[in-house]
Amino acid sequence: QALTMRFIEDIHRPRFPYKWKIKIPGCPNDCVAATARSDFAIIGNFRDAIKIDQNILKEYPEEKILKVVNKCPTSCMSYENEKLDIDMGNCTRCMYCINEFSKALRPGDDKGATILIGARARGRIGAFLGWTLIPFIKVEAPYTRLIEIIVGIQDWWDEIGNPKERVGEAIYRIGFGKFLFEVGKELGIDPVPQMITRPRANPFWFYWPGEVE
Ligand code: SF4
Repeated sequence: QALTMRFIEDIHRPRFPYKWKIKIPGCPNDCVAATARSDFAIIGNFRDAIKIDQNILKEYPEEKILKVVNKCPTSCMSYENEKLDIDMGNCTRCMYCINEFSKALRPGDDKGATILIGARARGRIGAFLGWTLIPFIKVEAPYTRLIEIIVGIQDWWDEIGNPKERVGEAIYRIGFGKFLFEVGKELGIDPVPQMITRPRANPFWFYWPGEVE
């Protein structure tokens, strides 16, 4: 509600090249499809470890536990001697195991959000999924940092965007690396390996000549 009130003028009288949608799913299950359908996605996430209740987990059939362990997309789960372990350094918070064992596994307590930028369902270039802009950010009232980032990116897009060009298309046109160089530096958003076009792809960021000795 606080964000809606902050941007209410832009909802009624947009000054931008085209639409700007913000979607806020509460967890990485993303049931509102923010990853695919919002220019700026604020996806509820956590950065500490998944909470495991080993006793409740034992109530699930071992066959099911092993199936989930084997299907973990990053193979970061192991199950030995009736004990489940998760290597959180390699967990992508895909929510698969938490959904399957909703009584035994819970998201961690250090909650915040992952910010994605640039999704749209269709367009001149085609459909985009959102790209990771900030892997984890604390989201607490009065949301000063979040608003600073949104306004900073909107100002940049307002300057360089062509008519009817969504922010993702503008970033695609000039390149994510240049976007980071121009906007990221100003907003204090550093390049990180999570900034990729799609899972298991190379990062967007390449160092500029002169930055590498
Ligand atoms: S959340 Fe996904 S990546 Fe993380 S342990 Fe569970 S299944 Fe594996």
